[in-house]
Amino acid sequence: MEKFQLSIYDTKSRSNQIVRSANGREIRIYCCGPTVYRDAHVGNLRTFLLSDLVVRTLNCLGRATLVVQNITDVGHMTDDHSEDKLLSQSTIEKVDPIAIARKYEERFKSDLIALNIRPADHNPRASECIEMMQRHISKLIELGSAYIGSDQTVYFAAESFPTYGGLSGNRLDQLKPGYRYEYQEDGAKKFHADWALWKAAGNRTEMVWDSPWGVGFPGWHIECSAMSLDLLNGHVDLHIGGIDLRFPHHENERAQSNAMLTDIDGEVVDLWLHGEHLLFEGRKMAKSSGNVVLISDVLAKGFDPLAVRFCFLENRYRSQMDLAWTSIAAADETLNKWRSAWQNWSALSNQTESPLTKSITDEVLGFFAADLDTPRAMQVLRQTYKRSDLTDSEKSFAISAMDQLFGLDLTASPKKTKALTPEISALLKARLSARLEKNYKLSDELRLQLTELGVEVQDKGNEQEWRWLN
Ligand code: AMP
Ligand code: ZN
Repeated sequence: MEKFQLSIYDTKSRSNQIVRSANGREIRIYCCGPTVYRDAHVGNLRTFLLSDLVVRTLNCLGRATLVVQNITDVGHMTDDHSEDKLLSQSTIEKVDPIAIARKYEERFKSDLIALNIRPADHNPRASECIEMMQRHISKLIELGSAYIGSDQTVYFAAESFPTYGGLSGNRLDQLKPGYRYEYQEDGAKKFHADWALWKAAGNRTEMVWDSPWGVGFPGWHIECSAMSLDLLNGHVDLHIGGIDLRFPHHENERAQSNAMLTDIDGEVVDLWLHGEHLLFEGRKMAKSSGNVVLISDVLAKGFDPLAVRFCFLENRYRSQMDLAWTSIAAADETLNKWRSAWQNWSALSNQTESPLTKSITDEVLGFFAADLDTPRAMQVLRQTYKRSDLTDSEKSFAISAMDQLFGLDLTASPKKTKALTPEISALLKARLSARLEKNYKLSDELRLQLTELGVEVQDKGNEQEWRWLN
């Protein structure tokens, strides 16, 4: 297994790079976590899966890892920059903002469990790291990289960082003053691209803290600099997040963190790994587009959430992928068939390792190590079920070994019989009524919806029969 090393596509150098440990002990990974004001959708979870795939691969290669993933519960502003996302949701739900944060943090953690995404070693909460952030802000002021604006907000001086834009390709001279930067305050900052590290409270009374610069709250970008520097001991081997975070979030984080280094050319983060976005039925999955799918939706339709993980693995993290209920239904069906097969093989024989199983598991690990080429690894897995040159006990061994990487619970029991969910029952009832009322357009639409959920309907006189699609 040692013959492989993990290489990933690094956004900054725009090339494939080997993931190495700067301290020679463990690979230190920082992964931007959720803003806990709502449930994570499966698009967010696709990005969170990325760190799990990296960690599983590194661990299978015998490398130790240390992963920090923050929980943003203060400082992330709404898209129009007018309000903190947590406070805005607290007004909607009429619940204290910290209670909102803890509720959605719990749900985030159970979503990770549902997708077999292993938790980070540390999940620091922004609201509990205020002193840590203030310490870093004070240092940036001392170094001349930050200043106090006329509105008592502390700003990072973008022009003080010579290689600003090195990650995203944006150049300060090309960033137009009209661009909506975080915490835009007319006249209070010296340069339009400067951003807030500590924002003065103004009229805000909740989730504010005392500071040397007055009562206020931290900016979102300083959170990730402070946590990664403190909890990963000053260096990040690999930084992970969704592609939309490349600018301004990661560009600003890079400027803040590097500004604190004594070596002017030093980089706190060695490699930047970005996952592409998930689309759903053709459009980017986002709350604002209204096409959000949650793990609870997947469960409500009677599917195993790991069917979603299965779909993700069939696509490379670097390409946009389009998810649909039909692909989740098909993956769910395949998982069930595979689990039945594994149960039969393992019931009849002991698992046996052989040169053939070794070549299969090595091939799969090789694909994971080659910039997480999970689609090709999935092809090898698919073929393993069909191969006639392997004994049942070899198949059973190879599959359980490969599942260390895939994380699909391939050795679990299959679902006995799929229960009819309340949603499917209601659709069947609605379709029968529509047909009896001769509303064929509606009954056809409902038939299509049922097909997407894996149910086939057949008309029998004034009745209808249904069956699960295989
Ligand atoms: P948030 O909770 O909004 O801070 O987002 C959490 C993570 O999800 C970030 O790394 C985002 O880049 C990522 N993300 C947001 N939308 C999508 C999407 N449609 N597909 C994949 N990742 C996403
Ligand atoms: Zn971050």
